[in-house]
Amino acid sequence: MKYAILGDIHANLCALEGVLAAIDAEGADRIVSVGDVVGYGAAPKEAIDLLREHGVIVVKGNHDAACVGEIDPAYFNPYARAAVDWTRAVLERVDLAWLAALPLTVELEHCQVSHGTLAHPERFDYIQTVEDAVPSLDELTRLVCFVGHTHVPVSIVRLVEDPTRAAYTLEPEVDLGEVQAAVVNVGSVGQPRDEDRRAAYAVFEASEARVSLRRVEYDIEREAARIRRAGLPDMLAERLFLGV
Ligand code: ZN
Repeated sequence: MKYAILGDIHANLCALEGVLAAIDAEGADRIVSVGDVVGYGAAPKEAIDLLREHGVIVVKGNHDAACVGEIDPAYFNPYARAAVDWTRAVLERVDLAWLAALPLTVELEHCQVSHGTLAHPERFDYIQTVEDAVPSLDELTRLVCFVGHTHVPVSIVRLVEDPTRAAYTLEPEVDLGEVQAAVVNVGSVGQPRDEDRRAAYAVFEASEARVSLRRVEYDIEREAARIRRAGLPDMLAERLFLGV
């Protein structure tokens, strides 16, 4: 079984089209998203429609939750808050209902999926250190949990030979053969923050216990123009060119 995993799309249509084209070309049995379909970008409706057309299994991110009034955007930075207000205003009721109905976690045959952590998905905490990942590694019922939220691709693994310790790797190819449990952040489709402006996603070959973190180029000029046209803060267009 081959899974393609993508997330933190943030209403970036050109980036999502680029990633889905790459996935379609390679072929995947199942496409999964770690959430944050909307927020920041200017194509929320188009992003939702594309995910539905592709039959993507999606969990809820904090921006998705904020847009349907489940969490208070007062905790967001001003740019994110402006994008939440804009997104709420442009989405139709059917799209807001789709966002509201997204689950916080999903358990599939070979992997689990959550936006922030597996241990407390409703808190939308960030996994930024190996320590942060420990409660989620403890919670795993599958070999690996895919997450997003930080927009930085990284894998945190607990080895079979020493389950008392966990370690991280930034390697794009991760062999889970000797791994007891893993949390893999697949990076962001629509707003990468690791100073690599290309859209990020991952491929998981369950039969080979192998994860591959991928990047694809997309038309940033076109997406930035869409953000400016929508009247969203200019900074949300600028940062796409920098990958921050
Ligand atoms: Zn996000």
